[in-house]
Amino acid sequence: MQSDLIILGAGHAGMSAARSALKRGLKVTLIDVKMPASGDKFDLQAGPAKAMAHLLGKESWASSDAALERHPLVEEVLAHQYLEFVEGYGRVVKSNAVEVGRKTFSARRVIIATGSEAILSPDSTISDLPHFTEDCLPAISDQLQGVVVVGGGEYACLVAQLFGVMGIATQLVVPGQSLLEDLDPDVSEILERSFEQLGVGIYLGKGLSSTAKDPTTGGLINVQLSDSTVLKTSAIIATGIRRGRTNGLGLEAIGCATDELGFVRVNNRLQTSRSGIFCAGDVTGKLLGPSSAREMGRIAVSQAFDRSPVTRFDPMLITRVLPLTPPVATLGVTEKDAPGKSVKIAKVTFAELAGSKVGSQATGFVKLISAPRPLMRGLGGGKLIGATIVGPSAGEMISELALAMRRNLPVGAIVENVRPTSNYNFAVELAARQLLESENPALKAPAS
Ligand SMILES: Cc1cc2nc3c(=O)[nH]c(=O)nc-3n(C[C@H](O)[C@H](O)[C@H](O)COP(=O)(O)OP(=O)(O)OC[C@H]3O[C@@H](n4cnc5c(N)ncnc54)[C@H](O)[C@@H]3O)c2cc1C
Repeated sequence: MQSDLIILGAGHAGMSAARSALKRGLKVTLIDVKMPASGDKFDLQAGPAKAMAHLLGKESWASSDAALERHPLVEEVLAHQYLEFVEGYGRVVKSNAVEVGRKTFSARRVIIATGSEAILSPDSTISDLPHFTEDCLPAISDQLQGVVVVGGGEYACLVAQLFGVMGIATQLVVPGQSLLEDLDPDVSEILERSFEQLGVGIYLGKGLSSTAKDPTTGGLINVQLSDSTVLKTSAIIATGIRRGRTNGLGLEAIGCATDELGFVRVNNRLQTSRSGIFCAGDVTGKLLGPSSAREMGRIAVSQAFDRSPVTRFDPMLITRVLPLTPPVATLGVTEKDAPGKSVKIAKVTFAELAGSKVGSQATGFVKLISAPRPLMRGLGGGKLIGATIVGPSAGEMISELALAMRRNLPVGAIVENVRPTSNYNFAVELAARQLLESENPALKAPAS
């Protein structure tokens, strides 16, 4: 089959690009070192039990992909008559050709979607000891008497929660002053409480000052923190240091630039420095995660074949859903990054949903941020520029806000979309109403 497009990597970005290209009637060669699974490696949303099942008795959760059930959309792509799947390690040899073993495949365009990988911590205090990353977790066994997780980002939180849920003594050492520093500070507070309830120790603003094998207990490691606290553990998991998976792809030889961490340099149209080659997903280093990978896959195809001047990758429109307990979903700017005085912020906690069945039980909140629209100013409540939801169904609830932002709808349109008062979702309506009323005080109901 003479292809129109070669896609290197069949993860979230590659599959999304393939689907988009096939829908256009293009012929696609999709290359991956292994047959694609669902792409969800660590799907706590599908339930911690699923994640645990993958971890228990496995050397590494990353190697457990093949065991996952395949998603129907993946099946649809693989079964398509215009799809050629090639199993093997690909190297880009020209702007229109990729080599797998002794065979060379060519096409009009190439999309690189090879993802990212964790790198072992260069921290000299642990580099001499065997240690783990979010991509390769220690196996659960009787020998595993505890883990120390280092980092404060989403991978650190996911990993610490996973081991905590499994009843493994878990300590989280966070170099920053709070968890998830790039998100709303209220998120961090709730998560810290959740970790406490789980029995996970959190050490904020601390680093590792030394580590050594404990001479008295055989397999254990003594971890000394910067404040002289000493933790005893079986394994150290250093999280959040990732690089683009481009080693050995041959990009340098064909003039396709990468940065010092191996991420491919792209502009917001996902064009690389080599004409004819586009890039999508984690390997761009732009915004790591499955949603942005899927969006980039779609945009890369559109740019590769239409060069549309309006289709660009905008990280502000991407929903991030962290499958934590409680789940966290974010979109656009956070309160601390919200620009200027004209910005309005509204927060409704689930506890405020008085009288509803959800109000008494749930921890969490909806926070919305709006700004005036050009020309129309605050009319209709302005436009939504950011949202953070923490609590049950956060990932589902944020979808309508994502649509509102993408379509530039006024905040009033979110209010008009009436929901049952007994749903968590009602908090979205109340928060949007607060924004609308702060722009138009006349709409406020008189106090009774
Ligand atoms: C700890 C952790 C938890 C996560 N939790 C979740 C979660 O719950 N749900 C979720 O959906 N995502 C989760 N993610 C994130 C998610 O895995 C990535 O953000 C997402 O998969 C990125 O998509 P991608 O297509 O860019 O890369 P990937 O999905 O990594 O796909 C890249 C593909 O390229 C292939 N490849 C690489 N090099 C070559 C080559 N030279 N030749 C052929 N094939 C190659 C790889 O085999 C792979 O299939 C998690 C990640 C981590 C580390």
